[in-house]
Amino acid sequence: MKKNINKIKITVKDPLSAKEYLTAIKDGNRAVLSKAITLIESTNPKHQKIAEELIELSLPFSGNSVRIGITGVPGVGKSTLIEALGSYLIEEKKKKIAVLAIDPSSKKSGGSILGDKTRMNRLSINNDAFIRPSPSSGTLGGVAKATRESIILCETAGFDVILIETVGVGQSEIEVKSMVDFFLLLMLAGAGDELQGIKRGIMEIADGIFINKADGENIDKANLAIREYKNAIHFFPPNKNNWIPVVNSCSATENKGIDSIWEVVENFINLTTINSSFNENRKQQAKFWLEHTIQSSIMSLFYSDKNVSRKLKELETSVLDGGTSPFKAAKELIAIFKNKS
Ligand code: GDP
Repeated sequence: MKKNINKIKITVKDPLSAKEYLTAIKDGNRAVLSKAITLIESTNPKHQKIAEELIELSLPFSGNSVRIGITGVPGVGKSTLIEALGSYLIEEKKKKIAVLAIDPSSKKSGGSILGDKTRMNRLSINNDAFIRPSPSSGTLGGVAKATRESIILCETAGFDVILIETVGVGQSEIEVKSMVDFFLLLMLAGAGDELQGIKRGIMEIADGIFINKADGENIDKANLAIREYKNAIHFFPPNKNNWIPVVNSCSATENKGIDSIWEVVENFINLTTINSSFNENRKQQAKFWLEHTIQSSIMSLFYSDKNVSRKLKELETSVLDGGTSPFKAAKELIAIFKNKS
């Protein structure tokens, strides 16, 4: 007899089989989708094994969404904008929206910049939206891997726009850029770029730059900022996909310009589909993640090797004292690692 998946009580201690997860996720069971993401984030080897199998089974059902990264400094209006954009897409475009987050601050501070607030009240109760906060533990690499796999599961569950939010303060944008189709940078008018903590490099990887809070007395400043950023992007190296980043403004609280964000995304998809760079980008991303995973797996094998860690301290001291060169020490440690394995 077929099990009724909705009635199965799942606990993280007692997970379902990968096939059972898949069936329930494809059926649109939110609770199971949430549990499956928890499984992906788990460091328990038993969970990891099921999660790995689930991802393999899900891959054929994934890939059909538009993946959008959204970044900007704390306070720029990311969650307000996601609430507005998500609601617009659900109501006007009949889309199903998943919101995922990468928050590198959560590990360092024990709290998170993105997750602490009560956020996205409207979306969180909408049946066509699924919101998942950033995992609160793990390295940035681990969190990014979990997010990438969560995208696959959300696509399998039928979500057709995936919004991935991150704090615009550093490395996490690069990770997000490597898992999305379109990267949106939110800025504020009138605050210097340095004040906003936005590095030039982040502007260079953006496909769209929107000046948020273009309302009330801010409108003139926003228009000025648009001109400045448009000038600035002239000096950026051209994109391989022939896309010229769009600079515009919006107001998340007044729901202005939200439709134009989506229009820009659609134009982007049209252009990159016609010139094949949409798929090429996804292929390159897969390659990036292959290399990334190999590197991080080897690093973790290396540092968890008993013989290596026994010798590491001693060689480190010697390198610091000037007794051994860093290159010789590294060579010796690698030799120890290779001989053992
Ligand atoms: P986040 O930290 O980037 O997620 O920013 P929030 O979405 O939490 O917004 C920070 C503050 O800015 C909140 O008080 C919002 O109400 C406000 N805010 C967000 N978008 C706008 C906007 O378009 N116009 C104005 N005037 N305020 C906004």
